Amino acid sequence: MLHPLYSLKEEVENLFIRFGFKEVEGYEIVDRYENFEFLSFHPFHLSIEERNAFILKNGKLLRTHTSSMQYKMMRSFSPPFKLFSSGRVFRKELSGIHRYVFEQIEGLWMDTTLTFKGLLNFLNVFIKKLIKVEKIVFMPAYYPYAHPGFKIVSFCPVCKGKGCRLCKHTGFLEIMGAGMVSKNILEKADIDSNIWKGFAFGIDLQAISVFKFRLEKIDTFLRNNYFTFKNFKKYVV
Ligand SMILES: [Zn+2]
Repeated sequence: MLHPLYSLKEEVENLFIRFGFKEVEGYEIVDRYENFEFLSFHPFHLSIEERNAFILKNGKLLRTHTSSMQYKMMRSFSPPFKLFSSGRVFRKELSGIHRYVFEQIEGLWMDTTLTFKGLLNFLNVFIKKLIKVEKIVFMPAYYPYAHPGFKIVSFCPVCKGKGCRLCKHTGFLEIMGAGMVSKNILEKADIDSNIWKGFAFGIDLQAISVFKFRLEKIDTFLRNNYFTFKNFKKYVV
């Protein structure tokens, strides 16, 4: 029997493939350039991000997000392309949803005809195939490598918007972060920003698992208890 998180990962990956995306093999040890500088982290933002990174003795680090794969994708493939990469990311921070290691999936779509409106429409359809939520909200968000950038949130499935520990008492949970790839990122990758436009979006697998399994405590889910997992199967929506 597969861990429910891995079954969910396969499900999300299959959804990407159904939407015409090709998988790119990822790697966990990256250099600062791939993880931060290529993605245009501002010095202030960078200091916060760096504090949360596990730095290795050789100066490399464990990637803090799968957006670090954008470097490989843009350098190794010529547009047009639709690519995704999934895997573990590592941060020295804890939240209602995360422990130090968690899973993300990054999508990158590059073509000449992509528009911001097209990105919103695409993600609307994509999320409806992924999870059953009554309402999703697009909220402006800052990502140094995406402009405009936004996150997609929905009412916390545990407290139904009233506020609980899991959603840090906001009533909302983030489903994914997304945006149009910034022009300066395209230029750094030698992609002509007057011709090519990009969609980038990152999904947090554990956040999706909260919606799918109506989890109240992520710890229960991360323990390797066979009987707990058998129960989770029933709650898949
Ligand atoms: Zn909540």
